[in-house]
Amino acid sequence: MTAFDQYVTVLGRLRPGSAGQARRVGHLFVVPPRPGPWISALCGLTLRCADIEVLDRPSGMPCEQCLLRAGEHPSVE
Ligand SMILES: [Zn+2]
Repeated sequence: MTAFDQYVTVLGRLRPGSAGQARRVGHLFVVPPRPGPWISALCGLTLRCADIEVLDRPSGMPCEQCLLRAGEHPSVE
């Protein structure tokens, strides 16, 4: 068991209407068992959980930095 076994990796982006379409790229968020009101993506972007639209499958443009870091992060399989 590692420190990240209870974490969940979620694909999400800014909710519709909260930003221009160009800023609504898909980020990877590593969600701890008890998340706070803010959460950081693998790329370092921090958003309020209330502003995130969780995606059940890849949609739209992905965040390149999140994709690059996903291969290095112990919680992402
Ligand atoms: Zn990102």
